[in-house]
Amino acid sequence: MKYVSTRGGMAPLDFSDILLEGLAPDGGLAIPQVLPRLSAETLQGWRGLPYADLAFEVLRLFADDIPADDLHRLTRAAYTDKIFGSEDIVPVRPLAGGMSLLGLSDGPTLAFKDMAMQFLGQVFEYVLAKRGTTLNILGATSGDTGSAAEYALRGKKGVAVFMLSPQGRMSPFQRAQMYSLQDANIHNIAVRGVFDDCQDIVKLLAGDLDFKAACRLGAVNSINWARIAAQVVYYIHGWLRATTRADQQVSFAVPSGNFGNILAGHIARRMGLPVRRLVLATNENNVLEEFLRTGVYRPRSAVDTYATSSPSMDISRASNFERFVYDLMGGDAARVKALWRELAETGQFDLSSLQPSFETDYGFVGGVSTHADRLSTIRSTYDEAGVLIDPHTADGVKVARDYVEPGVPMLVLETALPAKFSDTIQEALGRPVPPPAGLADLESLPQRVQVMECDAEAVKAYVKAHALL
Ligand SMILES: *Cc1c(COP(=O)(O)O)cnc(C)c1O
Repeated sequence: MKYVSTRGGMAPLDFSDILLEGLAPDGGLAIPQVLPRLSAETLQGWRGLPYADLAFEVLRLFADDIPADDLHRLTRAAYTDKIFGSEDIVPVRPLAGGMSLLGLSDGPTLAFKDMAMQFLGQVFEYVLAKRGTTLNILGATSGDTGSAAEYALRGKKGVAVFMLSPQGRMSPFQRAQMYSLQDANIHNIAVRGVFDDCQDIVKLLAGDLDFKAACRLGAVNSINWARIAAQVVYYIHGWLRATTRADQQVSFAVPSGNFGNILAGHIARRMGLPVRRLVLATNENNVLEEFLRTGVYRPRSAVDTYATSSPSMDISRASNFERFVYDLMGGDAARVKALWRELAETGQFDLSSLQPSFETDYGFVGGVSTHADRLSTIRSTYDEAGVLIDPHTADGVKVARDYVEPGVPMLVLETALPAKFSDTIQEALGRPVPPPAGLADLESLPQRVQVMECDAEAVKAYVKAHALL
């Protein structure tokens, strides 16, 4: 399996090579040259596999440059009951109204990012040791990516993490989770701006090829293909749990921000997983929902990005979206490149002539959920099914309800646990959520964070001074 760039300007590379890079040298994103296909027999043969073994079967399709025994060891180290709290790793729980919850949030940081990141931590350490080199992870987070990356990489050999977060835009629990880490290889940088400002700085620094090479920069944000590949696993796991026959379809509803999670569902569907619908849920920052409805992609500026009560979805420009557009363009990298040039020049592009195909050919539908929707959905889900969901998952449940069909299981992806967003749960139910066992005093631990102006040069100087070389 070789990887190329969505913009056509990268010679084909192996999985281990793109693992250690951020953006492709031409500014595009790495994508498999040819997607593997899952036959009905293959899928049926995977029934009953423990999660770590399923992950091995799926990931070997994408990482065939890693010896199979080694890869199997890595997935077994990543997906343990000790790290994820149960043998299931990803439990499936019934909700009312034909829906079920795909439990992706039982990892160390209580959000679905752990699913991919725990594998990434293992495979990074493995590849770096094998190559005798080091890597400095530079990333931007609106909350959950950063903590998941830091928990997966803390104390790992050969890696340091520089994580930019928007100051004051994360919940106290999220802040405490990240900033309380005292490991020497973890650097938290709080930027006076919003998530997109952080992401712009990361893109600028990673786009400076001399700096990138000198500081050995890499990425773990959602543009990293290894994360997408690791996320494909739980779509297959969910399908295996919800069906008995090979031809049975399921739908997935996905609370979306950077388009990373749902992109993995799109990839699984293109590989042949019988997926009926991919239901994309946004909060008030509805750039992606607008695109699915109109075909016009019109990212917002930072000032037009609202701070909502599902903060991990407060994203105006979806970094993974380019991979979906690459497929919409039939893999024509020149057209992708032209669209992103148009985007840079005019602030938008228009694919309205293709809009009907989003649903008919790709299964994509979308919807918006507001603060009031979140509160009422948290309440009704608790009343009807006895299940407490977090505000992001509530956005997913709210939009999923409109697309439930008889005979088609609707799996809603649980993207975080409610304990992470206790203020909103308090507002919805009139009582807070007790923190999970072992995390009761998290918010009172000492915090370690560097506060900086929204200034790429300042961040650059800091990374230069602290990079692991
Ligand atoms: C990251 C995140 C999302 C959005 O996922 P994308 O892959 O960026 O679309 C939604 N909910 C939570 C809790 C998250 O952490």
